Formats: sequence, structure tokens, C-alpha cells
Amino acid sequence: MLQIKNISKKYATKYLVQSALDDVSLTLRDNEFVAILGPSGSGKTTLLNIIGGLDRYDSGDLIINGISTKKYKDRDWDSYRNHTIGFVFQSYNLIPHQSILSNVELALTISGISKKERKRLSTEALEKVGLGNQIHKKPNQLSGGQMQRVAIARALVNNPDILLADEPTGALDTETSILVMDLLKEIAKDRLVIMVTHNPELAEHYATRTVKLRDGKIIDDSDPYQENQQDVTKPEHKSMGKTSMSFLTALSLSLNNLKTKKARTILTAFAGSIGIIGIALILALSSGINNYIENVQKDTLSTYPISIERESIDMTSMMSTMMEHNRSNGITHDLDKIYSNNIVTGMFSTLSEEKKANDLGAFKEYIEREDSKINDYVSTIQYGYDLDLQIYSSDTTNGVTQLNPSKLFNRSGMSGMSGMSGMGGMSAQSMGMMSSNVFSEMLGNKELLESQYDVLAGRFPDEGAYNEVVLVVDKNNEISDFALYTMDFMNQEDFKNIQKSLAKGEDVKEPDQASFTYDEALNKTFKFVLNTDYYVYNKETGVWKDMREDKSFMTKLVDDSLELKIVGILKPNPEASASSINGAVGYTSALTEYIINKINNSDITKAQLADKETNVFTNMPFDMNGYMENITMAEINDFVKTLSEEEQQQFKVLSSTMTEDQIIATFGEQIRSAAGKETTYEDNIAQLGIVNLDQPSTINLYPINFEAKDAIAKIVEDYNTIQKDAGHEDMTISYTDLVGLMMSSITTIIDMISYVLIGFVAISLVVSSIMIGIITYISVLERTKEIGILRSIGASKRNISSIFNAETLIIGFTSGMLGIVISLLLLIPINAIIASLSGISKIAILPWGYAIVLVVISMILTLIAGLIPSKKAAKKDPVTALRSE
Ligand code: ADP
Ligand code: MG
Repeated sequence: MLQIKNISKKYATKYLVQSALDDVSLTLRDNEFVAILGPSGSGKTTLLNIIGGLDRYDSGDLIINGISTKKYKDRDWDSYRNHTIGFVFQSYNLIPHQSILSNVELALTISGISKKERKRLSTEALEKVGLGNQIHKKPNQLSGGQMQRVAIARALVNNPDILLADEPTGALDTETSILVMDLLKEIAKDRLVIMVTHNPELAEHYATRTVKLRDGKIIDDSDPYQENQQDVTKPEHKSMGKTSMSFLTALSLSLNNLKTKKARTILTAFAGSIGIIGIALILALSSGINNYIENVQKDTLSTYPISIERESIDMTSMMSTMMEHNRSNGITHDLDKIYSNNIVTGMFSTLSEEKKANDLGAFKEYIEREDSKINDYVSTIQYGYDLDLQIYSSDTTNGVTQLNPSKLFNRSGMSGMSGMSGMGGMSAQSMGMMSSNVFSEMLGNKELLESQYDVLAGRFPDEGAYNEVVLVVDKNNEISDFALYTMDFMNQEDFKNIQKSLAKGEDVKEPDQASFTYDEALNKTFKFVLNTDYYVYNKETGVWKDMREDKSFMTKLVDDSLELKIVGILKPNPEASASSINGAVGYTSALTEYIINKINNSDITKAQLADKETNVFTNMPFDMNGYMENITMAEINDFVKTLSEEEQQQFKVLSSTMTEDQIIATFGEQIRSAAGKETTYEDNIAQLGIVNLDQPSTINLYPINFEAKDAIAKIVEDYNTIQKDAGHEDMTISYTDLVGLMMSSITTIIDMISYVLIGFVAISLVVSSIMIGIITYISVLERTKEIGILRSIGASKRNISSIFNAETLIIGFTSGMLGIVISLLLLIPINAIIASLSGISKIAILPWGYAIVLVVISMILTLIAGLIPSKKAAKKDPVTALRSE
């Protein structure tokens, strides 16, 4: 039983307050067909909306089954509409983009009934109104009468207690009206039907009770309810179930809506995706560039390690000192005389100030300790030693040919060259430097090497194989002619002849380009000789004799010595931006170690090391000054024995007429000048190539990346602190990091660019989200009617907002995906352009992680942007919403 008690309703507009209902009281039975009659504007719709819980009364009370609704909350009204009320409107109010079945299902959807049950109940309801065979049609494919029957089916599908119909036949012709009315009469058999009409005949014919309204007041009631009848039908309380709708339902509702506007949705998504495209491209580019820079850094740093030399100059402080010196505004004298500008001497003094001897042995020991963390930061450590590799051509048929240190430039040839005006800048030293670079030690880190070089033929040397070397060609498969001459690939005699012609002032023709097959190159071998192998001990004189001038000795020596085999031909990897092998031939550090150990274990080395005072080459003390003052005849005889036959003969002839004293006086002087060429112990050590493995002359630390470089610098600093604390100020290490100085400014630039890009990203994001917000708002405006319909069948405010949120999420997702797909497509030509401009292929790559994050960001942003419109939608007054067209 429904009781309306003294209900009033006023509508306040800008200009006047309209009283739509004025103290209306009406009690309705649980089962009757009430027709409400009255002229237009008399308040019929208002009354119906208040009964249906769609509109709120100002004063009075609506009592449902004996329960007052004064304290009803939104949720209770939603539930009431959903479970107790069914609405039928004059204008059908079907949702155009949903099928008939979905329209009917809607009420069930909101109450959270399972899909299967929904379909069953809806089909049943549609069958009841005679439309069981039309369920998949869209509303606009039906006639007015059919649409109204669909509306009735929708109103009935929840089996409500009360059916409210607002002029249900108002838009129908008489014939169809009769059909609909018959249907309503049938429905009214077991529930309360309240129908608004302004057709008295229809009311008369079908309704069991007629209530007449005028100016918001009841002026007539054909069958008023008597209070005492209350006992007859006991009020039955129907519990207000909860209306609930899953987010999935909201999603599918929105998806259906968007499907009907495919073109627009795609355009919207595209517009929204522009921001995402921008971001994706920026990210792809910046991450690509970052990767590239990281690789370049890694490669570059491998060629430019942190280098610690035995004698180091602090380049940074030296450069700043020199800048000071050259300052133009720094003159401290008057401009009255001529003054010297001490550029060179100033530099020398700076050099000597900044020069510092590093104890590399102690440092080596320190970084090689177990607990040294340096291995976490370096890809490899290279120790350099003062050692000239003695390399010879394997071919000794025409005598030996020394390849390293190179003898390619003969003195006369060079002097001739340097005398020529055309050779201007090229000095003998620069040529010499070229030659010394032909053979160079490779890095110990095989992985790094393999990333820098492709193997053209053969392979990388095996681990620890000291007699395996590689040949390195440039990116065009070329090796400089100079290196080829040095290695004796091309005949050294030809080169010497060219030099000779040049010296004589003859024309020199450029020879034809030479070429070698990989197999030829791989068959090439070199011989290497130890510095100590050149000397042979003479038991008689106790002197080690240099045999380098003895051709047959040298031929035998080279023939018998170990062979260096070219096992592979390497070419710089075009992807790698740096290559660490300086020369044309790379040898392993194992070779260096092998040679050092061999030399150290040789007899001459042992002899020299055992007696640091005596020169093994002369068997005389290094310090000749004291020695000569009291030289004896025996000692002179000893010395004479070390001379050549010829010289010994000369000595005999000359000394035969002299006394011992005369001989001492005469030859002491000569011997002093001959033997005492100020040779020192250190000179001999160097000449023999004696190297202490624990005392490198350089330490090159190859950092794995920039951060590692800082970490390495820190380790050096820590080492220095330890030494200082222990009072060994002289043991501290200084090093040069020019690349670090240079690169740190590059990082600053990269950081700056990144910030600018982030700025772009932010702007794109804001723009695209504002876009989506506006579009959602438009969608809200467009779907006002739908909002009203949904509210009328029991959708809560939350349901409405979640429908719009679902919509923005779908748009956000589509935008994101579209943006990613378009970006990926755009990256193809972008990469092609970059590749053609810079030669760096595939630099811009969008990482998958970023792509996913972008889609999520797009969804979150559109959701946020859509929150205001969706809230607005939720707040819409359902009555107003329904009135809108
Ligand atoms: P009926 O359905 O009988 O034609 P209504 O119930 O729609 O009449 O309207 C009753 C009165 O209230 C009318 O005068 C109408 O102008 C006014 N009214 C209805 N809804 C509103 C509203 N939202 N704002 C202002 N006035 C309204
Ligand atoms: Mg009306």
C-alpha cells in the first residue's frame, strides 16, 4: 500500500515559484489500475515522479507499505526504483545504442543479476509483450507501439510492485494505443498500475479508479481508499535490496555506447593519442640516444682509460696554471720597453712543478688485493712496461730483417726527407711514432674486444697464448702501407729505395695498391727475440758481447727463436664507436709476461742483477771516476781483451815502446773516454729489457661506465688517504683524466636536454588530458537522457559516474594503444632518416616497459580528466535529465 500524505512540491525558477503539487493526499491499493487525469501542467508527471522516487517532495510524506520515506537516503531511493518501481514514459526512453534485449536487461544489470539469468528474464518479459522474436533489433528499427512495449517489458522485468506510466499512449495512434492499454490492464491484474493520461475515455474504459488533478490539487477520486480497509490488506514490508553494478558492466555499457560512435571514438582517441605519440617518440629517442651514449661512453672509455704513469703531470692544474700565464690582461709591466714573454720556460717550470713520481708498484699491489673493490668498476686493467718487442721477419734467406723496433727509416733517407720543403710538418719523430704503433698489446678483456671487433677470418687468440697475434684492418679492410712495410708484408727494400730516390731529389711514383688474401695474411708469421739473446758471454774476458752485428749469429738466432702466428684478422665493429687496438698487429699480454719472465731468467740478467756496480758489457764499474784514478796495468790488460782483434793489435804496437806508467797515463785517459760513456746501471737494465712485473711503468684502468670512473677515482683517493695517514706522502698517486674532464660537460648537456624533453612530455600530457576531459564532458551532455533513464530504473549516482569513468578509461586505453602503435610506425621512417643522416641505425627504440607505462599513464590521466565530467553526470537530476532531448 502506498500512501501520499499532504505532499507539496514547488519548482523555483529564476522568475517565479511554480507550485506543481499542493498538499496532495492519496492512498493507493496494492492492486489497482489508477488513471490520473488532468490538463497539461496540472502536476500529473510531478506526482508520478514523486511516487516513483525519481523526484523529491518538499513537504508531506510518502509512506511505502507503512514505512515513511522521510529518512530515505539516495541509496534507498535507488533501490526502491530498481526493485519496486517500473517506469513507462510517453517517449519510450529507450537507449538507442543498445539492442532491445540489452535495454530490457538494463534494470537487471543494475541489480547485479547474472548474465544468464538476465537474458532469461528479459527474453521472458519481451515474450510477454509479444516481442520475443525481435530481441536483437535496435530501438530505431521498431514502430512506436513496439518501442512502448519494449519499455513496458523493461519496466516489468524486475517484477516490480508498482508500474508507473506517464502518458504511455500519448505518442501512439488509437489502434496501437488499445494494444498497449490491454497490456497494461493485464499487468494491473496482480499489481498497482498508475497511469497518467489526459484521455478520459481511455481512463474510463481501462482504469479501476480515476483521480483527477488540477493546479496541483486532487479535485476528484472515483474510488477513494477507506482507512478501515487497512486491516483487510496487511502491509507487507518488502526489504530494500541493494542495487549494485559491477565495473565490468559499466565497461560493457560504455563499450557498447562507444561502438555506436566508432568514428568519433577513434578520432577522439587519435586526438588524445597525439600527446602519447609525442611522449613515446621523445622517450624512444632519448632512451635510444642514452643507450647510444652509454655504448659510446663504454667504447670511448676503453680507448681512454684512467691512466696512471710512473711520472705523471697533473694536466688539470697544469692547464689552469698555463691559462693564468697566458692571460692577456695580466701584464705587470709598463709598455715602455721590450719584455720577454716566458711561454716555453714558463711551461717548463709548470711542468717541473706539476711533475710527480708515482710509486706504481705499491699501487699495483694495492689494487690487486683480494679486498680491493676495483674489479667491480673496471672492465680490464692494463699494465704497461718499458719494453721494446724485438720482432723479426721469419724470412731470413737474405739475412735478418728487424720489424720492431722498426729500422724502416734509414738515417740518410730521413735526413733527406726532412730537408725537403714539401715534407714540412712531418718529422722523423712522427714517422717513428707511427712505426712503434704497428705492434701493440691488446686489452685483456676478451668480451670488450669481441664487442669492438668482428673476426674477418681466423679467431681471437686463445687465453694465455703468448705466440698468437691478430692483424687489424680498418673499416675498409685496409692497412696503412707503412704498417705493411713494417710488418714486411710489403718489401722493406722497396720502401728504402723510395726514400733513397727522395733523398736524391728524384720523382717518386705512388706504387700500385697491394692486396693480400686472408689466407696469405693468416699464413704470415713473425719471430720474436729476447733482448738478452743478443749477448754472448766470453769466459776469457768475463764480458757479455753484443752479437747484433754478426750476421750468421743473428740469422741462426732468428731462425731458432719462437714464432708469432697471426691467428685472426679483425675489423672494427661498425656498431662500436671505439676500438682499443692501436696498431696493425695486436698481441696478448701473455706475450709481454712471457718475454719479461724469460729475460728475467736469462744468465746475463742474473749476472747484471747480482752485481749492480759492474757493467756486464765491459766488466768494469759503472762509476769510472774513482776507478780510473788508481787503475792498474792488469786492469788495462783486462780491458784491452774486450776489444776487437784489430784494436788489440793496435794497442800492442803502440804500447810496445812505453813503460807501464806511460801506458797508464796515456790509455787511462782513452779508456775513460771509451768505456766511461756515463753508462749507468739503469741504462743496462733498459738495454737488456729487464722489467720488474711488479713495477709497471703505466697502469691503465678501463672503467665500465661513467659511474665506475668516479668510483675508481674514489678508490685512488682512498689509497692516497691511506698512504698519507701512514706518513707516506710520497706514495700518493696522481693521474690524468682528460676524457673525464671533457665528458663531464657532455653529461651536463645531456642532463639539460633531458630536462627540456621532460618539459615537453609534461606539456603533451596536460594537453592530451584536457582534451579527453572536454570530450568526456561533451559525452556527458550527449548522454543526459541516458543518465535519466538509468537513474529511473534504479542506477545510483555511483553507477553513473562509473559508467563515465569506464568510458574515459576505454578512451584512455585506446588513445594509449593507438599512440604506441602510431609511434612504432613513425619510428620506422624516423630511424631511417637518422640512419641516413648520421649512419647510426635503429637508434630510437621504444622499450616495452615504457610503452606499457604510457598506456597506463594515458588511462590514469584520462580518468582524472574525466572525473569532473563524470561527477557532473552523476549529480544530474534524473527528472531534468529525462526531460532533456
Ligand atoms: P503535467 O504532467 O500535468 O503536464 P507537470 O507535472 O509536468 O504537469 O508540471 C506541473 C507544473 O510544474 C507545471 O506548471 C510545470 O511548468 C511545472 N514544472 C514541472 N517541472 C518543472 C521544473 N523542473 N522546473 C520548473 N517548473 C516545473
Ligand atoms: Mg506531464
